[in-house]
Amino acid sequence: MDDCLFCKIVNGAIPAERVYEDERAIAIRDVNPKAPAHVLVLPRTHEATLSEYAAQHDNGDIGHLLRVAAELGKRYGEERGFRVAVNEGGDGGQTVYHVHLHVLAGRPFTWPPG
Ligand code: AMP
Ligand code: ZN
Repeated sequence: MDDCLFCKIVNGAIPAERVYEDERAIAIRDVNPKAPAHVLVLPRTHEATLSEYAAQHDNGDIGHLLRVAAELGKRYGEERGFRVAVNEGGDGGQTVYHVHLHVLAGRPFTWPPG
């Protein structure tokens, strides 16, 4: 996807602070963090939304993203905990249409989200 911001980050055309990478995914620091630690897990392939990703990939790929999010949540939240979120579509508050998991840690989070 030539015009996708996160594809450009995945392929290195736009810089980002990488905190994790493997053959299926990378994780970067969010440029506008909502918590002391706020990172985004991005699959290397382009699908716009979680629904599209789930339609195109097997359970192993889908589970891998969650596993990476859990590892990063543990890294940054230590024993205190963390929040994982995926926004989809307008009501979900999605702004970048390359699926990503938010991992937030370093402060308490309220429920339900606003
Ligand atoms: P969402 O609103 O769920 O689509 O999340 C998109 C996230 O991407 C927001 O938290 C933004 O702060 C973040 N973001 C936008 N541009 C960049 C960038 N160039 N590098 C890192 N994070 C970004
Ligand atoms: Zn993309």
